[in-house]
Amino acid sequence: MKLHEFQSKFLFQDYGIPIPQGKVAASPAEAYDIARELGGVVVIKAQAHVGGRGKAGGVKVARNADEAKRHAEDILGMDIKGLTVERVLVDPAADIQQEIYLAITNDRGAGKPLIMTSMEGGMDIEELNRDRPDAIVREHVDPLMGLQDFQKTNIASAMGLPRALWRSFGLILGGLYQCYSESDAELAEINPLAVTGAGELLAVDGKVIIDDNALFRQPALTAARDTSGEPESEKRAREAGITYIKLDGQIGCMVNGAGLAMTTMDMTKLYGDDAGIGPANFLDIGGGASPEQVAAALRIILSDDNVKCVLFNIFGGITRCDEVANGILTAYNEVKPDVPMVIRLQGTNAAEGNRIIGDARIPKLISAETLTEAAQRAVAAVKEGA
Ligand code: GDP
Ligand code: MN
Repeated sequence: MKLHEFQSKFLFQDYGIPIPQGKVAASPAEAYDIARELGGVVVIKAQAHVGGRGKAGGVKVARNADEAKRHAEDILGMDIKGLTVERVLVDPAADIQQEIYLAITNDRGAGKPLIMTSMEGGMDIEELNRDRPDAIVREHVDPLMGLQDFQKTNIASAMGLPRALWRSFGLILGGLYQCYSESDAELAEINPLAVTGAGELLAVDGKVIIDDNALFRQPALTAARDTSGEPESEKRAREAGITYIKLDGQIGCMVNGAGLAMTTMDMTKLYGDDAGIGPANFLDIGGGASPEQVAAALRIILSDDNVKCVLFNIFGGITRCDEVANGILTAYNEVKPDVPMVIRLQGTNAAEGNRIIGDARIPKLISAETLTEAAQRAVAAVKEGA
């Protein structure tokens, strides 16, 4: 879950990180009032879940309240990469002498948080990583030990930060690490962390991504969720209690259990990759798999136009295959998909489940016994349809 810039920076402030003392506006009139109250030069910043707002015209400097209002009129309602801007942040303009990049992210390979920082901030980190990888200082944190003071000093020294800034940089880095771990973040990024004309550090931009799996214990952050940047199908799945991630392939996968869902995806890729065929989604329908849930999942899978075949891979444990089979038929009659569906049922009451599917005599429903067979049939069905 992504936080907006203003949410990220207000969160940073709770951890002692200095930020510009701006406010959020949803209308040009509000932006005018905030700019007047702040006095002086302000920056009007689009609050939308996209990167590179600056380049897209979503960050504008205003010399006075009237200009702030005009910029807010331009930016509010603006479309940036398919998202409509509904709010702007009105910040007092910072006197930026230098832009530092500072971020903490999950390094899955290392199984540790990774601090990345550079004196060449401002630009996109991917670009920086590609063009000037040596300009980035990287330091892992042992999650059990936490960030150590000596690491802060080592990092400041390695990046070539002026000595006068080491102390404040250490405090900001410590605050950011605490914020990152207490918020269950996957990413906490300040870009730029500005060195101001007064020789102080200021977090001018902020980005935080929270691990969705930790949201159950982050009620305050969950309440701040803005879903406007997320795929419609993923929103609907979340509401239905189904774990669904949209991918680019043609085979819609309907599976119970996350591990089995991954295996199913791998198998479609194994047999389809040569022909450019693969999974259209990850989907874990969860336990139970009632007819309502199967129908909801089927609608979500089919809302993706790329889907040319649906592959059911259900392992009956507590979930009974005969119930799932009935659920599939109910869902089929309700949703009336025009693509073939390959069905593999194994485990509790599998024979009964397969009999129910067979007796229905629906040509679009293709039974398979093994996962290999199911994946091969799904790939063949996509090829036939093409
Ligand atoms: P992004 O494009 O979404 O990353 O938005 P940022 O908030 O990082 O702003 C982009 C760039 O605009 C920054 O890297 C700065 O160069 C510039 N900028 C943003 N706010 C200010 C400000 O208060 N003062 C000055 N001088 N430049 C700013
Ligand atoms: Mn930025």
